[in-house]
Amino acid sequence: MLLNGLRTLAIALAAAVATQAAAQDKLANQAPIDKTLKNIEALKLQANIASEELEYPAIDIYGSWNTKDTYSYPDMTVPESYDIDLTGFCMPTDSRRITSNFGYRWGRAHKGLDVKVYIGDTIRAAFDGKVRIVKYEARGYGKYILIRHPNGLETVYGHLSKQLVKPDQIVRAGEPIGLGGNTGRSTGSHLHFETRFCGIAINPKFMFDFERQDIVCDTYHFKKSKSASSASGGTVYQRVRKGDSLSRIAARTGITVDKLCRLNGITRKTILRPGQVLRCS
Ligand SMILES: [Zn+2]
Repeated sequence: MLLNGLRTLAIALAAAVATQAAAQDKLANQAPIDKTLKNIEALKLQANIASEELEYPAIDIYGSWNTKDTYSYPDMTVPESYDIDLTGFCMPTDSRRITSNFGYRWGRAHKGLDVKVYIGDTIRAAFDGKVRIVKYEARGYGKYILIRHPNGLETVYGHLSKQLVKPDQIVRAGEPIGLGGNTGRSTGSHLHFETRFCGIAINPKFMFDFERQDIVCDTYHFKKSKSASSASGGTVYQRVRKGDSLSRIAARTGITVDKLCRLNGITRKTILRPGQVLRCS
């Protein structure tokens, strides 16, 4: 009887140990699954946030959304400074030819960059965003589109021959939004491209390098105090690339090598490291 009892206990103990080992194995197998599930949930959450950001792009800055007034922002206060993330960009056109720069010309302010395109050329959204304005202005932009982006920017595409999107439409970076043209106040087909923050026009050259088909920097630092005194708005930074020299960067940003050295506390002999960020204005 006692022996029987002991044997039962031994079997029970062995079973218990076995069960525990199996349970541990299960747990061990479970752990990575849990982690994967957590990652999937995090991705889902990210996707949800991203789609909400697209539904109300940069609502924290602009305060409201309307598809009627191009440059009227009744519910907005311009932030003192703001970091505009450019990393999700797509070049609006693969044309590398600038035909007119940002700034004053013939006594009028030219608040965008003119890029040579031909009638019918595909024009693409510069970032993910939501289409706010699709209009025709005979004496100005011609057929134009304005898109608001979650990074706070608004981009304008003018003189189009055809608009392919509608107000309130959500678009992805690189999505075709229109076709190049010559409508409105325009001589010769081209794309008039504007980058605005809170309605303030910023020289697109500080963000987009059409010649290189790339962005100039990952983040554009907007500063309100600067934008009031100069049409450029904000400080320009450049990330040093492989093969870059001070003179190349100076030429790219339209300043002298001496000024570039002064701004960064370096000399003409300083060796540049790829990835290093230089102040250029
Ligand atoms: Zn223009």
